[in-house]
Amino acid sequence: PPLHKQRHQFVVDFVKRNKPKKVVDLGCGECTLLKMLKFHREIELLVGVDVNGAKVKKKMHGLAPISTDYLEPSYDQLRVELYQGSVTQKDARLKGFDLVTSIELIEHLTPADVELFSEVVFDYMTPKTVIISTPNSEFNIFLPGVSNYRHSDHKFEWTRAEFRSWAMKVCLDYGYEVEFTGVGKAPQGQQEAVGFCSQIGVFYQLGGRDCCKTLLVNDAEDLFSYTLLYSINY
Ligand code: SAM
Repeated sequence: PPLHKQRHQFVVDFVKRNKPKKVVDLGCGECTLLKMLKFHREIELLVGVDVNGAKVKKKMHGLAPISTDYLEPSYDQLRVELYQGSVTQKDARLKGFDLVTSIELIEHLTPADVELFSEVVFDYMTPKTVIISTPNSEFNIFLPGVSNYRHSDHKFEWTRAEFRSWAMKVCLDYGYEVEFTGVGKAPQGQQEAVGFCSQIGVFYQLGGRDCCKTLLVNDAEDLFSYTLLYSINY
């Protein structure tokens, strides 16, 4: 299957195994991943955020329930919410999720905005798990016609070592541990040398942090900086 499908399937497989109840996809674009996730009805709240509101609106109605969704009475309720907003800004409605996904998003941010993103996701939203995918620049030698970046809008593309060093710092700063993997395999025998086409970090919050955090956070700073574009209850 094409690479974008493999990235989304990676998330779907993770959801099947870990059964998160509250999931948010950052940089959800045209809601492709959300549409796959809506069939996993252990999820109770499914949220998408993108800075490009027009892009979200294009296909968001595909998230509406179809008639068969009402024929499965054993399912719990599902609520879907879509927001226009930037991952560099905090919004209190995104705190305390079980899973945050960020698929091919961070490479579109300037280094300063990547710092803000790290803070917003790991220090403010403090989800239990986070899946982040980004291009592995070491793989570019296998991509015909790619001399610099894979897309002109990319602000950077990291080697495995660069991704690892950013991820390890996030873990140290905010109390997470990370596993590295990826999708898109290199030709026979070269996997070790170059790694996956898309590199993926799966972050797990270390226990005990929630309790301390709650005591320190001032409830008065409840921020609502995103704009609700769509919401629906199943
Ligand atoms: N995650 C989707 C996927 O896997 O198909 C879309 C990936 S697309 C390459 C990157 C997306 O990130 C775009 O939809 C873009 O509008 C969004 N984006 C870029 N900067 C953003 C920001 N600061 N906050 C939220 N979304 C952003």
